[in-house]
Amino acid sequence: MSGFNLLHLITKSQPVALRPCSLPSGACRTKKTWPVSFPKEELKKRLTPAQYHVTQERGTESAFTGGFTHNKDEGTYTCVVCGSALFNSATKFDSGSGWPSFFDLMKEESITVTDDFSYGMHRVEATCSQCGSHLGHLFDDGPKPTGKRYCINSASLGFQPKDAASSSEGGAASSSASDGKTEL
Ligand SMILES: [Zn+2]
Repeated sequence: MSGFNLLHLITKSQPVALRPCSLPSGACRTKKTWPVSFPKEELKKRLTPAQYHVTQERGTESAFTGGFTHNKDEGTYTCVVCGSALFNSATKFDSGSGWPSFFDLMKEESITVTDDFSYGMHRVEATCSQCGSHLGHLFDDGPKPTGKRYCINSASLGFQPKDAASSSEGGAASSSASDGKTEL
């Protein structure tokens, strides 16, 4: 009988090292914090299902279905979640892709770009720097002078027509009216 070998197994037991989220692939990107965040419940009420899916679950709307794909009005495109100004209509161009496309940003820091390895390909994801909402992707096949193509979901965007922003040109463009939440 050699049943006593069980002892060996017991003494050999070792603590299982569950590694915290430290994958180099950026798989734990949700841990990153953004300057602005909104409760999930509020967003679900405020956004349409499509807007919620694209911005919060990194979805992609079907080509040619978005409301802004063929929008040629002058104005400012904003983040639909936090209202941050992202693109000027002057940088919008018809890429033929079926999604609103821009060749430049209003401000370099308004969008955060990260590597995206989903669906077995490498793309560059464009994210709102304020609230972390998924916007779309950035490609290098855009027109001059930047050569960039920000391929953005309509569902991620809001739009402020130029006419509506009557006298805010050159003045206090930043809409920091609701800045009352500065206490930490
Ligand atoms: Zn945002």
